[in-house]
Order: sequence, then C-alpha cells, then structure tokens
Amino acid sequence: MVNVLWREGWLKPLSTESLPNEKCSFCKNDFKDLEFVTSCEFCEIGILHDECHKIHITKNHKDSLDKKIKTHEEKRLHSYQ
Ligand SMILES: [Zn+2]
Ligand SMILES: [Zn+2]
Repeated sequence: MVNVLWREGWLKPLSTESLPNEKCSFCKNDFKDLEFVTSCEFCEIGILHDECHKIHITKNHKDSLDKKIKTHEEKRLHSYQ
C-alpha cells in the first residue's frame, strides 16, 4: 500500500496584488500568469508554486507529514469499530 496526498480539486483565482508576496517564497521567481500556487499548512513560508510546495513539504515537513498520515490511519481504524 502507498499513501497518496489528496488535494482539493477547486481552483481559486487570485491576483498577485492580493498576495503577501509577489515572488515564490521557495525559488524566488516571479509568479507568471496562470501558474498554480499554494501555501504551506505547516509553516508561514508564504505563497509558493505548486511544484515548489511539493519539494518544500517533502524536504522540510517530512515529520509533520508522517504524523498527519498516522493520525489519518488511526481515524480510519476507528471508523471500522
Ligand atoms: Zn517556486
Ligand atoms: Zn512549510
């Protein structure tokens, strides 16, 4: 069995003027039109590219991620009882 990470399937259009940062907090490149961006749920890094977010999470938050997966597995067990 492998764990995959589910992302909500809706898109929210935002202009860079409404963002706290106009450059990606991870790679420091400017956001371009219609790029996918997101924020980190584990820290206050700011807005970053979707691709950069994946790298950021697996690099910096492996522990939090593992914890989250465990909590989720426990919940899954309970719902069968
Ligand atoms: Zn980036
Ligand atoms: Zn983070």
